[in-house]
Amino acid sequence: MLRVAVVGSGPSGVYTAQSLVQQEPGVLVDVLDRLPCPYGLVRYGVAPDHEKIKSLQNNLRTVLEHERVRFLGGVRVGPGPGGLTAARLRELYDAVVYCVGAATDRHLGIPGEELPGSWSATEFVSWYSAHPDSTADGFVLGARSAVVIGLGNVAVDVTRMLARGAAELSRTDMPQAALTALAASGVTDVHMVGRRGPSQARFTTKELRELGNLPDTEVTVDPAELALDPDCLDPSALPAAQRRNVETLRDWAALPPSGAPRRIRLRFFLRPVELLADGRRVGAVRFERTAPDGRSGVTGTGQFEDIEAQLVLRSVGYRGVPLDGLPFDADLGTVPHRAGRVIREGRTVPGEYVAGWIKRGPTGVIGTNRPDAKETVTSLLEDASMLVRRDAPEDPLDALRAEGIEPVEWAGWEAIERAEAALGASLGRGGVVKLPDWAALLAAIRGSRT
Ligand code: NAP
Repeated sequence: MLRVAVVGSGPSGVYTAQSLVQQEPGVLVDVLDRLPCPYGLVRYGVAPDHEKIKSLQNNLRTVLEHERVRFLGGVRVGPGPGGLTAARLRELYDAVVYCVGAATDRHLGIPGEELPGSWSATEFVSWYSAHPDSTADGFVLGARSAVVIGLGNVAVDVTRMLARGAAELSRTDMPQAALTALAASGVTDVHMVGRRGPSQARFTTKELRELGNLPDTEVTVDPAELALDPDCLDPSALPAAQRRNVETLRDWAALPPSGAPRRIRLRFFLRPVELLADGRRVGAVRFERTAPDGRSGVTGTGQFEDIEAQLVLRSVGYRGVPLDGLPFDADLGTVPHRAGRVIREGRTVPGEYVAGWIKRGPTGVIGTNRPDAKETVTSLLEDASMLVRRDAPEDPLDALRAEGIEPVEWAGWEAIERAEAALGASLGRGGVVKLPDWAALLAAIRGSRT
């Protein structure tokens, strides 16, 4: 049997495991994760009100419950005490596939970015998703006006979460503290601001249109800003996805004001240049008006506009982080590879592979990871004859335990699921509610071991 470690249990890791066991009956897969909970960004990134996308967990679950797949949570890959190095993983397994995603957020690199009240969208998402490493709090406390920088689907998610009322959110698995804070939120205006034009926005139309269906919320688009984009005047030549975005925005720009208590203002051709303080916190974002340069980019015009904001969410994309012991392309934020085979010093290395965002960068939707994982698995299986190692331990789990690493197995995760169902019932929320922190997760796991 070929023993493969998949590092990361998000969609790319689980699709890799699935592709391995589907394509090759002689393979055993351990899916390792730093957290005791599987599913990566499906659990800690997909917005709580996107129940349909979240239900993908049921498909991922089937893979992790496959007889030749084993989930080993609470296993950190990296240097230091309790960590497994890339070199040690290669000793324990015939092959290792890194599916570690893009773990950090990109920075704007402008003055004031670190002012209190300015957060990365990732921090906000981690908070309302109950990521156990999330320690931040007080996002909406005292805020009336919020600025979201960026026009991707994450920007749409965080904008929607700021505008969606607590009544609807209480039916989701959102942790209780975040729900309470959002219920008390005084944010009435959310400005979602892009440096380029409507036809270059990265959000998808389905996600964009959801903003128009939020109760008690009006979406405004300034027709003058649409007119700055030549492709908005005649969108017929645009690819279908962009054309639909532009048509949606044009419809909104034509609407009369509704007087709704909450407003989402979509803004374009404004590039952030500075976050301005009000006392010790952020009070506004200064933008420079841009103009299309005719090559899909923009240039500055020297005109500036300040938008009031007691809360700023920077949603300008994720970025991969280097993994100790693996090569890394710092410009792209990815591991260099050829069809998923890691490239070291110009040559592919049989036995080390990548899939998902650490392979191709933070783009695409969850389903994009399926063909991506399949490509990597095809490469791995082509290498199979070179991979089986006679000196590898019979069962890597025994070796891990002998080294003092006690992974959280599937029963531990199931205990967390039961605890979340019990918490939801005790709060009368009508469904599962996520455990809020490490202490609660570890208590649930301990309960399953006694
Ligand atoms: P994204 O799609 O890459 O969008 C990043 C946005 O940030 C772009 O509008 C970009 O503008 C802007 N930006 C980058 N640098 C900037 C700067 N210095 N100043 C101002 N704006 C800047 O990233 P994302 O929203 O984080 O999404 C990541 C991936 O996850 C995407 O593939 C997305 O579709 C996916 N996702 C999907 C869903 C869903 O399907 N529901 C939900 C969440 C995320 P430019 O275009 O001008 O660079």
